[in-house]
Amino acid sequence: MTRVIEPQPKILDITLYQSGASKIEGQDNAIKLSSNENPFGTPDSAKTAFAKAAYQLHRYPNTDHASLRQAIGDVHGLDAQKIIVGVGSDEIITFLCQAYAGVGDEVIHTEHGFSMYRISTLAAGATPVCVPERERVIDVDAILAACTEKTKLVFIANPANPTGTMVGQREVSRLADGLPAQAILVLDGAYAEYVEGFDGGAALIETRDNVVMTRTFSKMYGLGGARIGWGYGPQEIIDTLNRVRGPFNMSEPQLAAAEAAVKDREWVEKCREDNARLRAWLAEALMEHGVPSDTSCANFILARFINEAEAEGCDDFLKANGLLVRRVGGYGLPNCLRITVGDESSCRRVAHTIGQFLEQNR
Ligand SMILES: *Cc1c(COP(=O)(O)O)cnc(C)c1O
Repeated sequence: MTRVIEPQPKILDITLYQSGASKIEGQDNAIKLSSNENPFGTPDSAKTAFAKAAYQLHRYPNTDHASLRQAIGDVHGLDAQKIIVGVGSDEIITFLCQAYAGVGDEVIHTEHGFSMYRISTLAAGATPVCVPERERVIDVDAILAACTEKTKLVFIANPANPTGTMVGQREVSRLADGLPAQAILVLDGAYAEYVEGFDGGAALIETRDNVVMTRTFSKMYGLGGARIGWGYGPQEIIDTLNRVRGPFNMSEPQLAAAEAAVKDREWVEKCREDNARLRAWLAEALMEHGVPSDTSCANFILARFINEAEAEGCDDFLKANGLLVRRVGGYGLPNCLRITVGDESSCRRVAHTIGQFLEQNR
């Protein structure tokens, strides 16, 4: 018998997700500025809650996540019924693709968009459609022009990764209102906490039935290792996503840590202020070395070099000096390096080292 074991269509088109490097061969104290993690770590409130939950590990977790959803709802002024919790916002993205896109359907992402949109689209058997951006900013007209009767989902991150740029509320509304009747706009708000006074698009959802927002505990809340994210959207869509969600997708330590973290408003204020101050300093310092970047609204800077060779050379030089940043050639930005805003000493060190490299190489 000749076997013909084959995966579902599109699965083999998936290129594996590349995470930010975390180790440098032969160096123990590398400074990691490659994954947009919080340089101040995890709030003590969340670590304590996580540890306490260890005493109940023999119990199955609750399945409705009511307590965490209520806490998120209270903090953000949202209806807890319309919140869904997942294993990172990645899982919410997976649910959306699984529930709304299949073979023959199209899912739009943009030129420099987050790679999980494409991966989850292919995993669902659907066809990813890549739309150009305008100078590293999402182009609403280009997205609308790319929509067809097959478009089921449109993913944008606001602020975006790896560009750090944002589109305004009016543009986002125009996008939502211009989509074909069968399409959902997904607003990925992984970095929304870094923008003072920004609701991630929540208000838009109250007045529309085709917009969903995803959020994460991985960035500002310093819980990337614990894998917690959430989504907010119209009741009908959230109810649909809950049908594909595994009942025990979240463990109790995850739920407890997230609940403590979201209530820790002091942490959020402090991290937002520190990030804004250090980000401005870092952008300015790089500019003085002749390395421009777009105004970033997130916790990283996309540094633009003269060409790919210079970006790669600088990355190698940083590595040799114990500093890890992110190459973004895979995001169509080969002449750029994405640098997470670290603590003050990391920012100084990365700026100084880039300055040294350019002094020797320009
Ligand atoms: C980091 C990031 C996320 C977070 O993913 P999690 O699965 O919640 O860790 C989501 N979207 C974008 C654009 C990101 O950069």
